[in-house]
Amino acid sequence: MAEIILRNVSKIFKDEEVISDLNLTIRDGSFTVLVGPSGCGKSTTLRMIAGLEKQSSGEIWIGDQLVNDTPPGKRNIAMVFQNYALYPTMTVRGNIEFGLINKKVPKLEREELIKEISEIVGLTDYLNKKPQQLSGGQRQRVALARAMVKKPKVFILDEPLSNLDAKLRGQMRTELIQLHKRLGTTFIYVTHDQVEAMSMGDEIVILNKGEIQQKDSPMNVYHDPNNIFTANFIGTPAMNIMDFEKMKNFLPALNGDVKYVGFRPEHIQLSAAEKTDPHSIILLGEILTRETLGAETIYSVKTNAGMINCKSFSEPVDRLRNVQLRIPHEKLYFFNYHGER
Ligand code: ADP
Repeated sequence: MAEIILRNVSKIFKDEEVISDLNLTIRDGSFTVLVGPSGCGKSTTLRMIAGLEKQSSGEIWIGDQLVNDTPPGKRNIAMVFQNYALYPTMTVRGNIEFGLINKKVPKLEREELIKEISEIVGLTDYLNKKPQQLSGGQRQRVALARAMVKKPKVFILDEPLSNLDAKLRGQMRTELIQLHKRLGTTFIYVTHDQVEAMSMGDEIVILNKGEIQQKDSPMNVYHDPNNIFTANFIGTPAMNIMDFEKMKNFLPALNGDVKYVGFRPEHIQLSAAEKTDPHSIILLGEILTRETLGAETIYSVKTNAGMINCKSFSEPVDRLRNVQLRIPHEKLYFFNYHGER
């Protein structure tokens, strides 16, 4: 087990800085998820931690060891990728055993490790099969088992579930969370999917354009976003962000430098009734689209303050025109000119 520290880490590819002065501490034993849009630098960050990419400047510490010049094989990190990278001609056993043979682990010890790990990941009955005889989920387990037999200090997982269908992905998420609990080893997990990040991580690191926007618990990134980027990125549909100018007639007077007002679609009460409430913003609107997804319904509503997305878990509203939107003041987020709270 090990804490990982990145200190003033930058990465320049040709003349483009893709990671800028990153400072990040990954807690020992945590399940830390790096999340952000495609191209924001998640994989590059992982690859630098693993030693597959050398940072242009800064320091990387694993435990009490400065690993700037330590090759990947000596960092005691195991990586799992989305394409599994299994050897197709070898059996499951062969794939799991390969790294152990390379490390000159004695045969008896290898046998024991393979038995222990294949039980944990549920592969005991598949040890003699080849990868092409396995389902996507089973292949992913082989990749995990191969990482686990090395008993690494840190697991690095780069979008490991993105090749699986939605149902299996859900199941594998749960398995990975349980595996993390069981092993107690630091997991660093990369995904572009905020739902995956929120459901798996105990620490979420939100990256955009090579910079950390927020590092926090799932609850805090949702309830207490630092800025518009995080507010927008976490939650589906995204938070409504309105120009303060357009909303200020509906709001009590405010002090301070407010440029934008935000509120989440799920915090809006949409109804046909006309109620008054001194503690809420009341808007009138017309429903333009309505998408019913079983338990919830998503509306896009044209209001006197602009277009607004609403999400409701109650019975779908039938009426289209003259609907009322009630947004409690306590559910509002205020952002300054720089998009910060
Ligand atoms: P993410 O994992 O968040 O999708 P990456 O870390 O893969 O993002 O990439 C971050 C940025 O660095 C992107 O603009 C990408 O094009 C660039 N990049 C990544 N690897 C290389 C490379 N080997 N050479 C040049 N540019 C690269």
